[in-house]
Amino acid sequence: MGELSHESRLGVPHRCWAEVDLSAIRHNARVAQSMCADTSPSVLAIVKADAYGHGAVAVSRALQQESCVFAFGVANVREAIELREAGIDRPVYVLGAALPAERELLVAHGFIAAVSNQEEADHFSKLAVERNKLAKVQIVVDTGMGRMGVLPDQLLALAQSAAALPGIEIDSVSSHLPSADEDSAFTELQIEGYRRILSQLNSAGVKIPRSHIANSAGTMDYPVANGECVRAGLMLYGSAPIPSFQARLKPALAWKARVGLVRDLPVGHGINYGRTYITTRPTVAATISAGYADGYPRHLSGQGTDVLIHGQRFPVLGRITMDQIVADVTDIEQRLVPGTEVVLLGQQGDTILTAAELAEKAGTIPWEIFTGISKRVARIAH
Ligand SMILES: *Cc1c(COP(=O)(O)O)cnc(C)c1O
Repeated sequence: MGELSHESRLGVPHRCWAEVDLSAIRHNARVAQSMCADTSPSVLAIVKADAYGHGAVAVSRALQQESCVFAFGVANVREAIELREAGIDRPVYVLGAALPAERELLVAHGFIAAVSNQEEADHFSKLAVERNKLAKVQIVVDTGMGRMGVLPDQLLALAQSAAALPGIEIDSVSSHLPSADEDSAFTELQIEGYRRILSQLNSAGVKIPRSHIANSAGTMDYPVANGECVRAGLMLYGSAPIPSFQARLKPALAWKARVGLVRDLPVGHGINYGRTYITTRPTVAATISAGYADGYPRHLSGQGTDVLIHGQRFPVLGRITMDQIVADVTDIEQRLVPGTEVVLLGQQGDTILTAAELAEKAGTIPWEIFTGISKRVARIAH
């Protein structure tokens, strides 16, 4: 890893940066494919929110080299256009509900739009006909998520009507699992119900080329049926929402900062805002170039969080401030020098700090840890 570009444009080392291992993400995509019933390409790679903070362009270019990734999924049309402008030519699903003013852009670019109701279907049809284009749509059915989609008893009517509209091409029918990592009894019933209504569509003669319901947790913990594809997000980045699957994935991101100062503090000295930590022994304190403005959660304050230096854990003392955190490095053998690398999240030597660990201590979820890594943090993909 020594040959990465660790310098900013100013010719000095980054203060806080994230190294993204693209081969790990490709590996994780193949793991997702291996969990599908089909050998045909079945991974719809979710790269919304800048690929969960990993860099959507670099990640998508890498994943496009994997034949198992047949398409990409993003949250909105702006993210979809970013992929196209970067030369990504596989299909792109826009997963969120398009605002009326955005729909024309989806049609113009040929992105696959999520449709929840007749009004959206009619509008996409009208826009497509006016532009002599085909509007590709995935019809979303709400089997329990409660944020998008048509209710199950109205799916057949919507699908039949959409299929008959000029300019509409039905790409797929999809649904979403709200509790795949929390409530298996509900999730099993939900998946069963979803497959039942798909077969009703089939019996009614509505042709649905694709279907998908599983997110990462669904992909891991429930059998994916023949002909279904999976919308894999978190697992691509090497974080398993179902802990027993963690060993099969390769974490892709290492979030790093540097020691800025090494200082000797006497007993009884307060550290950082609010003086929530008072030294109880003569303490060697390392001031580190990261804070909540980098996305390192302020909620980690006082939660016994560690950072890694030279492959060893050291506790963070006091509150997380905007730009600088302080770690207790009293127990390190050799005195640290300023500029030394510090790992906030990731592996160093044999020790690993996972997104799940940080998330738990911060009272949140790995998704929010990754997507919270801010713009100030340089991304170095390799
Ligand atoms: C974000 C998203 C996913 C990916 O979920 P993970 O839990 O990260 O795998 C799948 N489907 C939809 C509709 C989403 O919005």
